Amino acid sequence: MNPDIHGPLVKGKTRKQIKARRDRAEARVKKSVRQLCVDRDGYCRLSSEAWENHPDDWHDDALNDTCDGPAQWAHLHSHRRSQTRGQTATRRHTTFGSLMLCVEHHQQYDAHQLQILIVGNDGCDGSLEFRARHAS
Ligand SMILES: [Zn+2]
Repeated sequence: MNPDIHGPLVKGKTRKQIKARRDRAEARVKKSVRQLCVDRDGYCRLSSEAWENHPDDWHDDALNDTCDGPAQWAHLHSHRRSQTRGQTATRRHTTFGSLMLCVEHHQQYDAHQLQILIVGNDGCDGSLEFRARHAS
């Protein structure tokens, strides 16, 4: 165990120093959780390659399933950063609550044109339902 990380706070550390250390710890969590999502989802969870690896995912026929743009790490809306501000890094960034999406599908999701529904108890680690939602 690294005493610098896990030991008691050294007296006299400024809030700024503590904040910097927390930010570094969060960066490590983000990096490892993102990598786990890449291993699980590949480039985009809606791609046909990912669907092959996740046969229990359900894809709506009305989806625009053409991927475009680089891979991005997306948080489900209930786990998005604005909703989890102030929580610890390991609660904010989980494989349960995040997945890989290409830019196209990430934008569709943020624009609420694409719904991502959790089916079981495992979040994005389990099967997901992808539904198209069209503006009326
Ligand atoms: Zn995609």
